[in-house]
Amino acid sequence: MMPKPTVFACSSAFLLVIAYARLTRMTPPMNPKWNGQFSCFDLVAKSAECDRSIVRIRDIEIGGSDFVVMAGPCAVESETQLLQTAEAVAEAGARILRGGAYKPRSSPYAFQGLGVEGLKILRKAREATGLAIITEVMSEEDVDLIAEYADIMQVGTRSMENYALLEALGRCEKPVLLKRGMTATLEELLRSAQVVAMAGNSQIILCERGIRTFETATRNTLDIAAVPVLKTVSRLPVIVDPSHAAGVRSLVPVLSRAAAVVGADGLLVEVHPTPEKAMSDGNQSLSFDEFRYMMADLQPYIDLQQDSQRLRPQLLVTGGAD
Ligand code: PEP
Ligand code: MN
Repeated sequence: MMPKPTVFACSSAFLLVIAYARLTRMTPPMNPKWNGQFSCFDLVAKSAECDRSIVRIRDIEIGGSDFVVMAGPCAVESETQLLQTAEAVAEAGARILRGGAYKPRSSPYAFQGLGVEGLKILRKAREATGLAIITEVMSEEDVDLIAEYADIMQVGTRSMENYALLEALGRCEKPVLLKRGMTATLEELLRSAQVVAMAGNSQIILCERGIRTFETATRNTLDIAAVPVLKTVSRLPVIVDPSHAAGVRSLVPVLSRAAAVVGADGLLVEVHPTPEKAMSDGNQSLSFDEFRYMMADLQPYIDLQQDSQRLRPQLLVTGGAD
């Protein structure tokens, strides 16, 4: 005998409720693996109380709604080189000037940077253009000196696990840009960020700059997935350095687009007046014209950021604990 229509309607509604309850129980709000893996870094992980932190340098906000571009030569080589570059990148829309005065070179025979002389040139460029300055600090002994000149203290890939340096930066009052070690996992990157925060400085920006893999066609492998993962599990701003990831200038504009689309808060890009004559990293440095074209082309991809934000939590839900 067929069930009476009302009984049938009631039982199918009941089944629907059960199915819905099962489904919601089966899809956790956060990927449990990532949750467990990163939430221990409580000062840098995303939490109900702190969703995102914004690093402020004068009127520049990194991690807010702006896409902030930092650009300049790999190394400060001379006053003319830096001032010309500062003017060119400012005109193209960069807000922050990069340039190494202390260079962590893989070879002891390569140019090691101008040291304090380079810092003085960076200061001149800031006065001339109004750009904020980011420069690398390699040793805890240099932190106080470099903090007198820099607006952001860059920790290079080779120093990500230099804990004495990280702790000294934790005691300094300047924002820190922490580059991912070339063989570091995201967990290790966040662990280093936690070290800086525990020492007292929570103004930290993370930087994906490519990791070392078996691939040799590029200098490093840009781990583009690192951006949405870090933006999901951590409260810190995340920027991408396409120059050191690619190692060749022709890839820099397209990797910059990719970084914008996946939700990066900005870029760190190498630019040089005459890349073929650069004392370091010329192959991956853009000329002024190339940088200008790249910046002019980037806006539609930055506009897609809202959309990638909408997708981000879903990545966690559908990603599963794989
Ligand atoms: C740099 O920014 O010039 C640099 C040395 O970068 P990395 O530490 O990523 O190699
Ligand atoms: Mn470089």
